[in-house]
Amino acid sequence: MNKAKLITLFLIVFSMTLFAQRTKLRPGRNIYSPQQDVDLGREVAKDAERQLELINNGNANTYISALGQRLASKVPNENKFPFYFKIVNDRSINAFALPGGPVYVHRGAIEAADNEAQLAGVMGHEMGHVILRHGTNQATKAQVGQGVVGILGAVLGNGAAGQIAAVGGGFLANSVLLKYSRDAESEADLIGTQVLYDLSYDPKAMAEFFDKLAKDHKGTKTEEFFSNHPIPENRVAKVNAEIKKLGPLPPTPRTDSPDFQEVKRIMLSLPEPVKRDTKAAPGNSKPPAAPSARTIEFNSNGVRLRHPDNWKSSVQGTHATIAPDDGIINGNLAYGMIVDVFQPQGAGDLDQATGQLLNQLKQGNAGMQTTRSRVQTKLDGRPALLAELSNDSPIGGKETDVVITVLRSSNELLYFVMVAPAKDFQQYRNTFNQALDSVRLR
Ligand SMILES: [Zn+2]
Repeated sequence: MNKAKLITLFLIVFSMTLFAQRTKLRPGRNIYSPQQDVDLGREVAKDAERQLELINNGNANTYISALGQRLASKVPNENKFPFYFKIVNDRSINAFALPGGPVYVHRGAIEAADNEAQLAGVMGHEMGHVILRHGTNQATKAQVGQGVVGILGAVLGNGAAGQIAAVGGGFLANSVLLKYSRDAESEADLIGTQVLYDLSYDPKAMAEFFDKLAKDHKGTKTEEFFSNHPIPENRVAKVNAEIKKLGPLPPTPRTDSPDFQEVKRIMLSLPEPVKRDTKAAPGNSKPPAAPSARTIEFNSNGVRLRHPDNWKSSVQGTHATIAPDDGIINGNLAYGMIVDVFQPQGAGDLDQATGQLLNQLKQGNAGMQTTRSRVQTKLDGRPALLAELSNDSPIGGKETDVVITVLRSSNELLYFVMVAPAKDFQQYRNTFNQALDSVRLR
């Protein structure tokens, strides 16, 4: 090799080290559309905000939103997820994000952060989970394992069909949407680090904060965070490797702001949050009002029926839930009914398809057992099967689930699940029977 070639080679290698590319991350496999991320996140956020107490302090809320929007201006948000940011009045050190944009920071995380860069790093990490769609990617994996039972319905954990997500009662600990893998954690770390760099913060702040939490606070206050965000292997080393790729560091990276210290002071001066029982509160939940004798029509996906006018229906794709207020406990149906469609494998008859459905329901519900094997009945004049199951009720104790199936076509099994706690089922039997009698199929 002559000298000129050597110099050229040197220049190539040199420029490669100078302009090493930052890691570009792409969302993994996902059966949901980005719009479904947004819809699902909104739905779960409603549930979350019913259970969590949010901080209601103008300065703090303005601050967290402004910081969040600055971060949002830099994350590679190709799907244009609408981010918003709220503070939860909870002193455990945690933060979480829901699909499609809602980001929640616990008061405890602000109190524990030394400076704004650390807080920004935590938020950037959460936003990484959003843009990389880790929540619905996890749900996709869960679906593949479970088969598809009314896609969104199952993820939302509405009663018998879906214990997959168990939104609520240990909402954070149980939701499949928040159970990230170690790889997902590493990816979110890289996004958090990149966005810190892009805003001229010290890019090491995020990894250092997580590392400090893992070392100092084992247990209690950080338990929730690390149960949902498992610590990736070699976290700090991986982040440092990424920082090398990002380019020259600013000579005086930003670490803090007076606004952060002011908000931290506000958080520390707030009264202790009122202890809430965020675990499903068996026995504490108030039973729904008795079903009204007046009925209104439900009409969706080719199914019409009449239900008490003090019950409300909500439809997600093929999955419909019809329930009284207070009938859904932490996202799980305790009183009411589900209408959904199941797609049996292979061309089956009603009995085979029903068998497959019941197996699948049992797979998703560990406590579910058949208490009355299927018998023939009629629904809107068509041959139908009825089975009775027992399952764990979201209010504690056992529930009775009556499942009625009717074959709408060779690959479409329409099913109804009537749900009430076993002790109350008798009171609801009439209501369920009237609803079934009123069913008209297209
Ligand atoms: Zn995470």
